[in-house]
Amino acid sequence: MRALRLLAALTLCLALALPAYAGGPGRETLFQVSLLDALLAGDYYGSMNLGQLTKHGDTGLGTFQDLDGEMVVSGGVVYRVDMQGKPHVMPPKALTPFAQVTYFDSDMILSPPAGLDFPGLKKWLTERLPSQNLFYAVRVKGSFSQIKARSVPAQKPPYPPLLEVVKHQAVFNWQDVEGELVGFISPAYAKGTGAPGWHLHFLSADKTKGGHLLATRLGKVSLEVDLTPRLTIALPIQGPFLKMDLGSDRSKALHVVEQGKK
Ligand SMILES: [Zn+2]
Repeated sequence: MRALRLLAALTLCLALALPAYAGGPGRETLFQVSLLDALLAGDYYGSMNLGQLTKHGDTGLGTFQDLDGEMVVSGGVVYRVDMQGKPHVMPPKALTPFAQVTYFDSDMILSPPAGLDFPGLKKWLTERLPSQNLFYAVRVKGSFSQIKARSVPAQKPPYPPLLEVVKHQAVFNWQDVEGELVGFISPAYAKGTGAPGWHLHFLSADKTKGGHLLATRLGKVSLEVDLTPRLTIALPIQGPFLKMDLGSDRSKALHVVEQGKK
């Protein structure tokens, strides 16, 4: 009886201490194609098609074969944002060299104050997350008083490194736009495989604007967080990936690429 009571108390403690993940085990995985370091090194050969990718999630980001624009995945639909900042729905047979998706089930729904910029939003949410050591999928939906986003031009082999390509990126500035930011917050130890910290892509509500987020100022938005405690990486099993030098530290290049500084 005493043991039972102890067990009950322990169960209660665990129930209080641990958030209940919405979604179930099959949906709590961040599914990733290849490595961000391989993309930084110039591997823009697609290793998975979008039909396969969307079997692993309905929300996320990435890019396409030849680095042909920014990928936004929303509601299971894959959009390619071109050099004019315009999204296009992509067919299942299109290829991706790098993408991250998950099935989005909200574990936290928050209302960050209007007026926050991107660094302000990061600080605000970081104070509210249960840990710095987990992966989170994030969706910020509503009105934005500013969105600064970019896209990248398609490349031809032999591919230059991503750091060279972003020198020719197209940057878009929009004011007072409705839409959503989707992406991931990754822990510091994701260095090498993904993007430590925040990585968000934008898609407007009318699906006419999008890109990799560089800066923002929030209007009235709802922020949803999906705790994603599992990680699956599907590595290419052919092509230049097999012979690449992935031993060097590319965090400086990643910082420039992510922030979009020329
Ligand atoms: Zn991006």
